[in-house]
Amino acid sequence: MNGHIAVAIDGPSGAGKSSLARKAAQRLGYIYVDTGAIYRTVGLAADRVGLDTHDQAAIESLLPSLDIRMGYNDAGEQVMTLNGEDVSAAIREPKISMCASNVSAMPPVRAFLLEMQRRTARDNSVIMDGRDIGTVVLPEAEVKIFLTASPEARAQRRMLELEQKGMPQPSDEVLRDILKRDDQDIHRAIAPLRQAEDAVLLDTSDIGFDESLDRLCAIIAHRLEQRG
Ligand code: C5P
Repeated sequence: MNGHIAVAIDGPSGAGKSSLARKAAQRLGYIYVDTGAIYRTVGLAADRVGLDTHDQAAIESLLPSLDIRMGYNDAGEQVMTLNGEDVSAAIREPKISMCASNVSAMPPVRAFLLEMQRRTARDNSVIMDGRDIGTVVLPEAEVKIFLTASPEARAQRRMLELEQKGMPQPSDEVLRDILKRDDQDIHRAIAPLRQAEDAVLLDTSDIGFDESLDRLCAIIAHRLEQRG
């Protein structure tokens, strides 16, 4: 990959992928790429024009009108734009999570977004997180990690995150949403969420953020050392 390194981190929602991957990328000097944000942007676009996010034909016909770009602000945070508008905050609304999960099960949507993800990894050393990075997007990634935690631990973290963002949600709703998205992401026909055969498993159910980060960085360092 042109001398660039790719670290692929896959796993279910709420496992802590984005916050851990962002920090690990800072330590390594790599770019952090949150691919969920790209699917969220398509989900948001569909929701805004009132499309049924289960209607593949409708979503497919929407795609050519979408100019979706990924960039970084001065603080190094990933910024998503949709037809020129910064939608980085709008894509985080809870209802957009399910829209993203719905549209991400559609082959035309995945094909539409694939090259953007691969190009970013060709041009930079990256830590990229998502559901199919180690299996489909970057099957040749130098390091692959499957990051997971129990649904209850993930729901707890997601609740705190939503609270901090001023979008509190009842715990049973958060857990139900997580279980439903897990089910959709695992059982879809295309690019289902699964651990790549050569991925290292990291379960963060019983460990805090700092320890998770140390373990994640240790796995990356070990894998890169093994490559020599
Ligand atoms: O990671 P995040 O929860 O923001 O992702 C939103 C949704 O986008 C996921 O539920 C999943 O369905 C989809 N997704 C995907 N493939 C990726 C990243 C996200 O299908 N690489």
